[in-house]
Amino acid sequence: MAIQTIPYYDRQRDWRELALCKDTSPELFFPIGNTGSALDAISLAKNVCSRCPSQVECLEYALDSNQDNGVWGGRSEEERRLIRKQRRS
Ligand code: SF4
Repeated sequence: MAIQTIPYYDRQRDWRELALCKDTSPELFFPIGNTGSALDAISLAKNVCSRCPSQVECLEYALDSNQDNGVWGGRSEEERRLIRKQRRS
């Protein structure tokens, strides 16, 4: 997965303005549970994230602010927990 960071000239703008998910269904990024149709939603959300120019900034925001629910920066709840754990050790 190629991650594109926000070009310098766009950093003046909030990363949320460039977020691809702002025009998608919240249910895609915040499915209930992590089995069955929720797994499909998570996969689709990650696909959107993979094309989002704000992916790096979004993930760092989610990690810094301890966002527990949903897909942020192309990472699921469990994946973000693992990243936090790895960074602590
Ligand atoms: S990386 Fe994903 S969750 Fe984050 S702003 Fe982009 S589309 Fe939304």
